[in-house]
Parts: sequence; C-alpha cells; structure tokens
Amino acid sequence: MLITLHNITKIYRPGAYQIYALQGISLGVPPGEFLAVMGPSGSGKSTLLHILGCMDQPTAGEYYLAGQMISNLSAKSLAKIRNKKIGMVFQSFFMLPRFTALDNVALPLMYADTNGKSEREMAGAALAKVGLADRAHHLPQQLSGGQQQRVSLARALVNNPELLLADEPTGNLDRETGFQIMKLLIQLNQSQGLSIVMVTHDLEMAAFADRRIVLRDGFIISES
Ligand code: ADP
Ligand code: ADP
Repeated sequence: MLITLHNITKIYRPGAYQIYALQGISLGVPPGEFLAVMGPSGSGKSTLLHILGCMDQPTAGEYYLAGQMISNLSAKSLAKIRNKKIGMVFQSFFMLPRFTALDNVALPLMYADTNGKSEREMAGAALAKVGLADRAHHLPQQLSGGQQQRVSLARALVNNPELLLADEPTGNLDRETGFQIMKLLIQLNQSQGLSIVMVTHDLEMAAFADRRIVLRDGFIISES
C-alpha cells in the first residue's frame, strides 16, 4: 500500500470542548489509485487531507506512507517528507502574482535537492506535462483560471511526488474547465502512475476516480 491508515483519530481542542474531527479512520490506498473523498461540510475531509499531507499529526492511530511510519515524526521530519513525496493542489491557485508561470512552478525546488539538475529545466518539464510549455513566461494574471490551476498542478508535480493531494481542485472553475482539469488528473494517474487523493463535493467529478469514500462526522460511512 502507498497509504495505510489505522484507526486515525483527530481531536481538536482537547479538554472540555473537544471536537472529534476524525473518529477511527482505517484506509488503504494502493500505489496508482485515484481516490475521491466526499462528505458534507465539517465531516473531516480537510483534516484527513492535512494528515495525509503531513501538515498535521493525528491524535491517535497510525499513518504509514510508502511503508514509513509517519504518525510519530517530528514537525521537521514531516516537512521533509512533504517536500519530497507529496504534491498538493487546492481550490485556490496560490500563484505569486509577480512571478512567471515558470518561476511559480520552480518555487518548491528552493527547498529540494535537485541532484544538480537545473531548476528551470525541471520547472519547464513540469509545465510541459500539464500542456503549458508555451505559457512559461506569462504572469498569472495573463492566464485563465484553468491555466492557473494547471500551473499550480505543475508546481505540485515538479518534485516528482509519489502522491498528489487535491482539495476541491475544480471548485473555482466553470464546469467545462473543471472537466479539463479532471481529464489531466486522470491522464497523470493513468500514464504516469501518479497516486491521487482528491477531496470533492462534486459527484460528477468524483465519478472519474477509481474509488470513492464518504465521510460523515469523522467516520467513513460508505465506499463505492
Ligand atoms: P470538512 O473539510 O469536511 O469540512 P474539517 O476537517 O474542516 O471538515 O472539519 C471537521 C471538524 O473539525 C469540524 O467540526 C470543524 O469545525 C473542526 N475543525 C477543523 N479544523 C479545526 C481546528 N483547527 N480547530 C478546531 N476545530 C477544527
Ligand atoms: P474546507 O472548505 O476545505 O472544508 P474549512 O472551511 O473546513 O475548509 O476549513 C478551512 C481551514 O479552517 C482549515 O485549515 C481548518 O483546519 C480550519 N478550521 C475549520 N474549522 C475550524 C474551527 N472550528 N476552528 C478552527 N479552525 C477551523
């Protein structure tokens, strides 16, 4: 398994008013799977994605990523794993407005060991993967929403992560553009074997995934 979660619990504000955001999540994601995570607002989707993305630790339970125990690591080790193994895209594109597409994509390489490879070449290759090689020197404001999301996808992939985490990646896009982003995710999943966990409210988008889980009140209530 690429991801194994065993009885993951997350409690916010431990004490008198504690909130059980996740209540014993167990889940396996094999390498190359495209998994959709669904559920109403407040059901724990973001919390789950934060834990998978090594941005937060569970209160209890075990998380293994590619065989490595994650859930007892320090914040510093978590950051290392995040930079090396995980790419993330969000509903918002989070572009630096004064940076070109290429420079936005190259940003994560500032913290990475590129083994002597040129950062600009790696960023260019990532832009080519999302079909935007010809927009490398454009500023974000010169790009459409769909193109900006593709740039943020290139930025997520520039380190060649094993796992892509996507939080409502089509949430800020019109339907047609959203489908184009989904098509690109499916292509990356199928042709490059990229494993994807995507949070979405959108049944039509979730239908493209290999598997769907639905959260409610911090539990997995169904799978299809
Ligand atoms: P979703 O992404 O499905 O909307 P979340 O994971 O954001 O769900 O939230 C799950 C529950 O945890 C909700 O009750 C939410 O209010 C609570 N929660 C999320 N983050 C925090 C936090 N940092 N502090 C306290 N409560 C939080
Ligand atoms: P999403 O729309 O992706 O589900 P949310 O609106 O649930 O995101 O949460 C946005 C951010 O606010 C997250 O980082 C989450 O951890 C935090 N958050 C959510 N609920 C609470 C809360 N009750 N108290 C503090 N922080 C929260």
